[in-house]
Amino acid sequence: MTGPVFTAGQLIANDEALRELRPRARLSVFGDPVAHSKSPEFHNAALRTCGIDAQYVKIHVGPEELTAALRALPQAGFLGTNVTIPHKAGALAEVDEADEYARRSNAVNTVMVKNGKLKGYNTDGPGLLRAIREEFSAEVRDLRVMVLGAGGGAGRAIAVQCAMEKCQRLVLVNRTAGKAETLAAELDAVAVPQEEAALRKALAETDLVINASAVGMKADDLSAVPAHLLRDGLLIYDTVYATGESRLVREGRAAGAKVASGLSMLLHQGALAFEIWFDRAAPVEVMRKALLGQS
Ligand code: NAP
Repeated sequence: MTGPVFTAGQLIANDEALRELRPRARLSVFGDPVAHSKSPEFHNAALRTCGIDAQYVKIHVGPEELTAALRALPQAGFLGTNVTIPHKAGALAEVDEADEYARRSNAVNTVMVKNGKLKGYNTDGPGLLRAIREEFSAEVRDLRVMVLGAGGGAGRAIAVQCAMEKCQRLVLVNRTAGKAETLAAELDAVAVPQEEAALRKALAETDLVINASAVGMKADDLSAVPAHLLRDGLLIYDTVYATGESRLVREGRAAGAKVASGLSMLLHQGALAFEIWFDRAAPVEVMRKALLGQS
């Protein structure tokens, strides 16, 4: 756990404790919970490296506080904020405008203050594309992709991004099958039930499996896909990073698959947020070092 956690009340009141921080608090992450967030470490490393006189802080924002907290950003002198669980959909409803991908994925994870107005973006999908490129030297548009947990917030954002990339095939899987079916109809994708026979068949026509479900967040979770369905040459990207390597990643590697965990997506969504706020390239390697140093 890193750095202090401020409250929405302190932001809204432009409280002295926040106002008098040096460097000045000008960026943040809003979440509930938020104490576990790794974002301040790597954003502050980037700000220091680039000589930007600003500090990135964690702000605990409860469900009833999101509107007021977002609206307090301009008057508190903030350049923007990141938004995490459970506020990504709520933030989309609150911003003055949002880019197309944020609207389609029904989620905002990055807000920029511009002339007193709030503009929303979502860097999760673009961050994932960069992570896939970096980890597997591959482009999503060239791959047949299966998204597990497609009915969740991250899963929807990833599925929308893959559809926007026009990947070669898009298969959506979700525990509650109806959610995958609805999204598949919207994205011209294929919904597959989370059952062994159906998964086996769909995996035979899949190059890249992305786990965006919550399975793997607890150390004793089962794998999101039974080990005997994994194979040599499959690409497996598990967005979960909370427990280090998930069982899916470990079992995938044992089966000969190429595997990667979600820290690279976390890094790149952060780097892309930095690029939005400052209109300049992010010092990705500095950010990576700060992130890996504390994970
Ligand atoms: P969410 O909206 O609550 O969605 C959770 C998803 O997991 C739903 O699809 C849900 O299915 C599924 N699920 C939950 N328990 C399950 C179980 N026991 N078996 C099968 N499926 C289950 O959460 P979220 O915000 O999308 O986050 C999901 C994951 O993405 C988290 O692990 C998070 O760490 C990860 N994530 C990573 C990054 C990154 O930068 N690496 C960014 C964002 C999110 P139902 O629809 O049936 O409930």
